[in-house]
Amino acid sequence: MTDANGRRIDLPLIDHHCHGVVETELSDDGFGSLATESDWPAPEGTDGLDSPFGLALRRFCAPILGLEPLAPLDEYLARRRSIGAAEANRLLLRSTGTSDYLLDTGIRDTRLLGPAAMAARAEARSREIVRIERVAEDLAAESTAAGFVAKLPATLTARSREAVGLKSIIAYRHGFDIPAERPSGREVLKAADEWFHTAERTGTFRVTDPVLLRFGLWSGIDAGLPMQLHTGYGDGDIELFRADPSRLTPFFHATRTLGVDFMLLHCYPFIREAGILAQVFPHVYLDTGLVSHYLGPSAGTAIRQAMEIAPFSKVLYSSDSYGLAEHYAVSAASWRTEFAALVDEWIASGWATAKDAERIATMVASKNAERVYNLSA
Ligand SMILES: [Zn+2]
Repeated sequence: MTDANGRRIDLPLIDHHCHGVVETELSDDGFGSLATESDWPAPEGTDGLDSPFGLALRRFCAPILGLEPLAPLDEYLARRRSIGAAEANRLLLRSTGTSDYLLDTGIRDTRLLGPAAMAARAEARSREIVRIERVAEDLAAESTAAGFVAKLPATLTARSREAVGLKSIIAYRHGFDIPAERPSGREVLKAADEWFHTAERTGTFRVTDPVLLRFGLWSGIDAGLPMQLHTGYGDGDIELFRADPSRLTPFFHATRTLGVDFMLLHCYPFIREAGILAQVFPHVYLDTGLVSHYLGPSAGTAIRQAMEIAPFSKVLYSSDSYGLAEHYAVSAASWRTEFAALVDEWIASGWATAKDAERIATMVASKNAERVYNLSA
């Protein structure tokens, strides 16, 4: 399972939650702004990349672009510029050993490569995850309030036919403090009317109303695909305590027998809460994407917490990369290094055989995603 140095897991990965990379040439500031979840520049005289992710990038990505490990950041950025964004993306993506990318296509950033372009650049397969709130906003822009309410369920079902999963960002548009049950038709119509009035004033449709977010979520459940839920850290807008997945406990009771699985994404810092939910509820899963690169030298902490209590069939690999191919490269290299260190410890201290370790690593790397998203069909 590990390579000649015994320090890396060498298995194909399914990245079940990620976004496209940017292929326009980036300035240093442009690169820096994609290397954080902050929406603002670093304070004067400081560098946002002088961070755990910065160390990880210098350790893992510098050698992929032909530099010494830990080469200084300005050397790295100069090297990236000299080979060009397309070649950097190609080298970094192919370093990851990812067989399948499940791409959330809902972010409004026209610079991002779509599923087909990502597959070509990475020499891998890609599938689509449909973001419910994006579908709702696009539909609203061309409907009346009543038309929107009537059409959203069928629109999501139609979009689901080409996709392998759906995703909701209710955690950062509102929070997980929601009633367990489906909103009534009357409630939805009233909320839609108000939304359309607001949009007349503001000129844009951005869904933040909890009734409409729940309407989207339940319409997505009706479409029957696995549902990804943005959880915990991962957006500058988030009110972190409201993105604690344990707030979804009544919702998970209400949805347990509907035949839809819920994937808790990122989960940091609520990884243990997510692990408990994944143990208790048969239809709940977790990953530690995003912090797989942003924690840098501490990525192992998140990976270990995810492996503390949930059955091994409930933990998935993802990178939650966005914009920079460096996110992909660091996440994959960190996972391979840190997961290997963990299971090697289990073997050395008598908790698992080498065969157990290989089976468990394969489940997290790909088999669980393959099963839940029915990717072999
Ligand atoms: Zn994401």
